[in-house]
Amino acid sequence: MPYKYEYADKTSHFDIVNNPEIAKFIQECDFMTEPSGDEGERMNELFVNIPQSDEVLPEKIIAIDGSYYEASVQNRIPSTKVGYVKIGSLLIDRGQYRNLRVLNNRFVDPFRVAKVQENNSPITFPFPSSNIVLKGKKNVRDSFRYAMDKHLYEHRTIKNKPDSSLRTTLFYLASLRTGELGTDDPKKLKIHKCPSCEKKEIELYDIPEEQYCPSCKSPVYPSDCLRIWEEVTDYQSNSVALSRFMNVIEHIIPIHYIRIVREYYSESFANILSNLAFFIDGPLAVFGNPAWIHASILRYLNKINYDMKRYGKGSILLIGLQKSGHVAEYFKLIDNYINNNKIFAITDNYRYTYITPNNEPSSNGFGYETYYGQDFLLKTESGRIFVFALPYPFASKTEKNFIYEKTKYSNYDCLSKAVQLIKDFECDLYENAVVPVALAHKYTAISLEPGTKVLDLLSQTSIKGLTSEV
Ligand SMILES: [Zn+2]
Repeated sequence: MPYKYEYADKTSHFDIVNNPEIAKFIQECDFMTEPSGDEGERMNELFVNIPQSDEVLPEKIIAIDGSYYEASVQNRIPSTKVGYVKIGSLLIDRGQYRNLRVLNNRFVDPFRVAKVQENNSPITFPFPSSNIVLKGKKNVRDSFRYAMDKHLYEHRTIKNKPDSSLRTTLFYLASLRTGELGTDDPKKLKIHKCPSCEKKEIELYDIPEEQYCPSCKSPVYPSDCLRIWEEVTDYQSNSVALSRFMNVIEHIIPIHYIRIVREYYSESFANILSNLAFFIDGPLAVFGNPAWIHASILRYLNKINYDMKRYGKGSILLIGLQKSGHVAEYFKLIDNYINNNKIFAITDNYRYTYITPNNEPSSNGFGYETYYGQDFLLKTESGRIFVFALPYPFASKTEKNFIYEKTKYSNYDCLSKAVQLIKDFECDLYENAVVPVALAHKYTAISLEPGTKVLDLLSQTSIKGLTSEV
């Protein structure tokens, strides 16, 4: 997510839009505009009352937010760069927070906040970038591929169990692909082509040994399936590749936690997962070359939700929260017209008419290649506005009448819980740009690596009187 200082300052904005040639050009363009009073009224009518329910909210929240950086290795060789992606992943206990709030009369104990920050050691994935080659590798691209696969293989929930790695989660997701590249077997996946000789469809296994292209014998890595290597260059900035990796890993991590709980707690997984919610910064979508994974995530969630239902539990609560971007900007434009305590599921028609008027509508529906969640506009009782997304409640977008069904409120069994949860956190989420930071700022939070404490902490949830229910 961009930070404030990344935008151009006001002076340069003023200079640009007042340049006569640019002003003339802008007049010829279509873009989002502020609605008239009448239009605003009509928009207000599209919103519905927030669904009410007295369901129990999850006590544990995992908030995930990534960032990436690229930096020169030394000042004197500025174009020789390393990059890294950092993923903050925080577990917040609402129960502990409530106690804190009562004890401190709504003020936060600065020592406990300091403790939270101390615990917040995000996962860092370093990458070679412009003009940096790992020993034994031929170029930046091969070095980048090697580093990515190693990171995913070595980030494990249980250190001595390779099948608890992020890479194994990637195998699960890749095996769920439809068409030629799907395997329906989580022990193997297919990469679409060899990065060295372009041989098509190579099958790889979830094993520790290095694997080789059957044609050119060059190393091939399971994570080549994400196709991020295609955007790696030898001598220029690799910020595109880094941002793609950040985006895709932010979405793989919740699935990773869900998979680990499902596998290691086969008796009590439904209780543990129903007491847990995920917040991801940004829309529920994966962009660029790894975008295919959005469909696998949707399919995986659908399978898990089916299991949850068998145990009498609702769908997994995975919430994408958007602080910036077209939809958030648009909502600010119409905010004045919308009544409090209302919600609206954005339809494709609405989006193409008002939010992205310059885009040709896609016949398959908005975000067909990228999105796995529906965007909602929410205005709370206190008048704060949020853009959030919930996963589409279907296994795939080929469901009948998908474009219509995806905006039907009654299809989202966790909608009211999501709204209640956002309202519960609303003061903190509203002001701040980064979800985990916003949460950690005021809440008792414990940072997680995909390894270490997550299983202990989550399993405690089930021990506290919940296990016996299953
Ligand atoms: Zn090859």
